[in-house]
Amino acid sequence: MVKICCIGAGYVGGPTMAVIALKCPNVQVTVVDIAEQRINAWNSDTLPIYEPGLDDVVKKCRGKNLFFSTQVEKNIADSDIIFVSVNTPTKTQGLGAGKAADLTYWESAARMIADVSKSDKIVVEKSTVPVKTAEAIERILTHNKKGINFTILSNPEFLAEGTAIQDLYNPDRVLIGGRETPDGQKAINALRDVYANWVPKERILCTNLWSAELSKLAANVSHSIGTDSRIGPKFLNASVGFGGSCFQKDILNLVYICECNGLPEVANYWKQVVKVNDYQKSRFVNRVVSSMFNTVSSKKIAILGFAFKKDTGDTREAPAIDVCKGLLGDKARLSIYDPQVTEDQILKDLSMKKFDKDHPSHLQPASPTSIKQVSIVSDAYQAVKDSHGICILTEWDEFKKLDYQKVFDSMQKPAFIFDGRNIVDAHQLRKIGFIVYCIGKPLDPWLKDMPSVA
Ligand code: NAD
Repeated sequence: MVKICCIGAGYVGGPTMAVIALKCPNVQVTVVDIAEQRINAWNSDTLPIYEPGLDDVVKKCRGKNLFFSTQVEKNIADSDIIFVSVNTPTKTQGLGAGKAADLTYWESAARMIADVSKSDKIVVEKSTVPVKTAEAIERILTHNKKGINFTILSNPEFLAEGTAIQDLYNPDRVLIGGRETPDGQKAINALRDVYANWVPKERILCTNLWSAELSKLAANVSHSIGTDSRIGPKFLNASVGFGGSCFQKDILNLVYICECNGLPEVANYWKQVVKVNDYQKSRFVNRVVSSMFNTVSSKKIAILGFAFKKDTGDTREAPAIDVCKGLLGDKARLSIYDPQVTEDQILKDLSMKKFDKDHPSHLQPASPTSIKQVSIVSDAYQAVKDSHGICILTEWDEFKKLDYQKVFDSMQKPAFIFDGRNIVDAHQLRKIGFIVYCIGKPLDPWLKDMPSVA
């Protein structure tokens, strides 16, 4: 039986390994993590992350060929293939701060692999890393352990949170990069055999290490990228801003690579993407404040949705964080509701500095028990009650189906809705009496007459 160990039980490691276990009954999969709380949750009825369909997959395999453990060293030593799916956040300090990827967690995982291995291993780079990280890791592994053969592969993950299980069942492509040596080719074949249990052969693209890493980062290696159905209209909806742990971080990585290679103009081009995204969020806040007579001080604003997109509880880089901070800066009172994000998480996000969020929880500040002006509620109707305005910041389906007449009746008048995701029917809502702002759409006649800063 092939034994796989995955270091990192997060949004990528957990679902990916659960699907490998389901589709490959002959493979034993163990997901390890230093975060005990996370592992305990993976072993409980309340998984640490929300993904449609994930519960079923885990229930079917857990205890059979899928295990979650904090015994990192033992499981690394016992396995044939080791996936490294640890976090690679943006550096917050030192050289390249605010742009470069922080490879501390990756490097410590690699050093641990070198320390505890007693037999040959295939090490699979699953985390998104800068180009040439695989080579650097190979050096760490081979220099720290003589007599053991480590073969490194790059197998970047293209899943999107919210549809992770479907994406894993039916990937546009699986990309495996390895060395063009006999050992490298043997390792590529071993990993290809795992995916071939359910992914059609023509969708498993094998290439060299460098190309696999670059494909994930830059989305510009034409063949592998061209098969990506996410690049297209699905990805191009107007909104209050993009979020998620990967997109901004990977762009900042590109900025850093360009700067290091003497291409400041290209670096500025990519930097601008992040700047425009930040502008989009502050513009939304300005729109809210200017529409509500240039002050939201002490007004109650209902925030519907806090996750960076629907069908996930993930809040990393969620635009809601900056929008809420902006409104709090203008002294609004916020009543926040999201179907999947916990109160603790929201309070942490609102009290944390940019980029800290992506680092492991033991490095994060303990969450405050409360923030003045913020209440977190468990129901959309409770959030909107007595509010002066509503901001829709995540496109959860349930916000499309609210009884908006009931919402209107419970609000202060004039009742404002600022739809940051374009999910409401503005025409219907105007008939009820709302003043509606939908991002990227023509302004409500009322708003046209307001002195606007946005
Ligand atoms: P995550 O923060 O949810 O999970 C990473 C886990 O690794 C954490 O639980 C942490 O405790 C653990 N960890 C860190 N160092 C460790 C060590 N030395 N030993 C054991 N465990 C350790 O991160 P994620 O969202 O799963 O992302 C993982 C990687 O995949 C990142 O590089 C990310 O860029 C990439 N990626 C993410 C997505 C996504 O949608 N989230 C998609 C594609 C790729």
